[in-house]
Order: sequence, then C-alpha cells, then structure tokens
Amino acid sequence: MDTNLPVSTQPRVVIVGGGFGGLRLAQSLADAPVQVVIVDRNNYHNFQPLLYQVATGALEADSIAYPLRKIFAGQQNFFYRMADVKGVVPAAKTLQTSVGDIRYDYLVLATGSLTNFFGIESIEKNAMQIKSIPNALNLRSFIFQNFEQALLETDPEKRQALLNIVVVGGGPTGVEISGSLAEMRRHVLPKDYPELDLRQMQIFLVEAGPALLGPMSKASQEDAKRYMDELGVLVHLNTAIKRFEDGRAYYSDTEYILTENMVWAAGVNGAVIPGLPDEVVTRNKRLTVNLWNQVQGVPHVFAIGDVADMVTPEMPKGLPMLAPVAQQQAELLADNLQRLIRAKCPRISSTPIKG
Ligand SMILES: Cc1cc2nc3c(=O)[nH]c(=O)nc-3n(C[C@H](O)[C@H](O)[C@H](O)COP(=O)(O)OP(=O)(O)OC[C@H]3O[C@@H](n4cnc5c(N)ncnc54)[C@H](O)[C@@H]3O)c2cc1C
Repeated sequence: MDTNLPVSTQPRVVIVGGGFGGLRLAQSLADAPVQVVIVDRNNYHNFQPLLYQVATGALEADSIAYPLRKIFAGQQNFFYRMADVKGVVPAAKTLQTSVGDIRYDYLVLATGSLTNFFGIESIEKNAMQIKSIPNALNLRSFIFQNFEQALLETDPEKRQALLNIVVVGGGPTGVEISGSLAEMRRHVLPKDYPELDLRQMQIFLVEAGPALLGPMSKASQEDAKRYMDELGVLVHLNTAIKRFEDGRAYYSDTEYILTENMVWAAGVNGAVIPGLPDEVVTRNKRLTVNLWNQVQGVPHVFAIGDVADMVTPEMPKGLPMLAPVAQQQAELLADNLQRLIRAKCPRISSTPIKG
C-alpha cells in the first residue's frame, strides 16, 4: 500500500495525469501545505498541440516531451509515481494502480481524453490516431513504409491505395493534420522520394457534417475550407466513413476511397477511471463536475480538463476540450483545495473559464 510515498501530516492531493491540467495544478500547489502526488503512465508531459509536427517529421519527439521529474525538480512537496491507474474506491479514499494502491485525501482526475472509434471494429483495428507521441511516430513511419511499398507495387489500384491518405473528422485535429500532410507532400516528400510521382498522392479530408470546424463561426469554416483547397486537400463533406478494410475506406456499402492510410480524428471520449457512480459519467464518458470541479456528489474527488464536463451559464453545452480550459480549471482548483483544507467555502471563477 502507498507505493513508498513518505508519511506526511499534511493532506495528500493525488493527481492522475501530468497533462496540461495536472501539471498546472501541481505547480500551483508548490507552496501549499499539502503533499502533491502525480500518477501518470508516462514519466513525461506530452505537449499535444505539436503532435502534428512530430507526425509529419517537422519536429523530433523529444522536443514535445518534457520529463515530469525535471519540471518539478526543486518542488519539495512533489512526488511522482509512474503507474497505470485502474480504479478508484471513493468510500476508502483509495486509488488502485498497476504498482499498488495509493491513499488520498483529495483526488484530482486529469486523465484527458481517448479517441472514440464509435465501436467500429475495422476502423479501431486498422486506422491510426494522433493522441500520443507513439501514435505520432507510428503515423509517420507507417506512411513512409507504405510509400516504400508503393515504389515496388505494379498493380495501379494497390499502388494508389498505398499513396492515398484519408483523414476522417473535419474538426481542428483533422484540419491541422491534413494541412501538415499537404505541406509534407509539397516540401519534404519530393526530396525523399524523387522516384514517386507525388501528383498521384491524394489527401482526403472526410467530414460527416455539412462544414469543416462544425462548432466554429461561418468565417472560420470558410477559411478552413479555402486553406484546404489551396493546399490541394480533397474535402468531402456530408460523408461518413463506415468501414475500413482491405485498402478501402467505405462511405456506403459499395462506395469507397482507395487507401491503406487512414487517420481517425472523428471524435474523443473522456478517459474515465472505473469506480465512480454511473450517474456522473456523461454519454461521451466525461465526468459531470460542479463549478469548482468537484465530481458531482462525490466528496474529495475532482476532475479537470478534457475529462471534466463543466457546464457554465456562458457555455451551456459544456467547456471545450482545450489546453487553456484545463489550465484555468487547475489554477482555480489549487486555490479551492487550499480553501477546503482551511474549512472555507470554495469560490467560483469571477472571470468565465473559456477556451
Ligand atoms: C493532436 C492534438 C492537437 C491539439 N491542439 C490543441 C491546440 O492547438 N490548442 C489547445 O488548446 N488544445 C489542443 N489540443 C487539446 C489539448 O491537448 C487538450 O485539451 C489538453 O491536453 C487537455 O489537458 P488534460 O490535462 O485534460 O489532459 P492531457 O493533457 O491529455 O493529459 C492526460 C494525462 O493523463 C494520463 N493518463 C490518462 N489516463 C491515465 C491512467 N489511467 N493512468 C495513468 N495516467 C493516465 C496521460 O498519460 C496524460 O499524461 C490538442 C489535442 C491533440 C490530441
């Protein structure tokens, strides 16, 4: 029990996740009278907004991975344990992890989100995603391996499938990765693959809804479409990919795009930890929290960032999954945890939390 964490008279705040939210919270508690423990399966912070650059070879992986122990060197009240968190037992104030149980006084779930494949097995098995550094490296090497295959392939249909890339999901991730791939086609690939006729390489951006960047303004939607057109990305709107196998991305029972390379950016779910009451888990697996990030009705358990579903008067559909939201929630919670320890009422943000 307790994974050799030092015994302390101060309350222990256990944070699951060293992403944008967890990191900012632990830093904001540096001078607080608490013991801070971050548990993360990775011993580095992943700067996700730059994953595209790693995926397309513009940046090396270590430029977007910051070791947690280095970030917190010198913070006396900070401890880190590398572990996969498996469950939480709120009644016993215990976290169950791959390296043993960890007792908490306050638990903060900052676990982020996971790719949602909507239960489509062929896509989950065969498509690539872009949520982690290993994902980004796999994407890059998988595409390059298929180009090597394309050089050897004599069957025109199979060769086309090896060269084509289909990005599914016209949200910010889909638009950015399509743009980065188009830049790579223009600037990098001609030098690396002089034997390939890159005019044959097609990048498709497929979106089920009627516009790119669905929830954003009309102007942003039009800008994104124009940007894709300029880069030569083939945008298919009102088109839902239903199946992906044997080098074909099907958008109906019989119609398909030839491709061996699919990037799935069509949705995410919250990364929930088992053990919390069913009623606090929303349809897209986020945790319902109140305005100071306490998981609704669960004492001493909080959630921030992508995994937290916070509805505010300004954002009735819930706050967006963005880094600044996770960071602002972390700062407010750091303050409120200290208030709770001093038996004071939590306060809610005077400035609305926004993306
Ligand atoms: C490709 C991409 C580009 C993006 N671009 C932008 C952008 O330009 N601007 C912007 O604002 N936002 C962007 N985002 C979104 C932004 O990265 C997220 O909103 C932000 O990371 C959320 O922070 P978080 O702390 O909630 O979770 P995360 O930063 O995702 O951190 C979650 C952490 O929890 C750990 N973890 C999860 N489950 C477990 C478990 N069971 N056991 C142990 N550890 C666990 C993970 O290893 C991870 O370190 C982008 C996201 C992606 C994927």
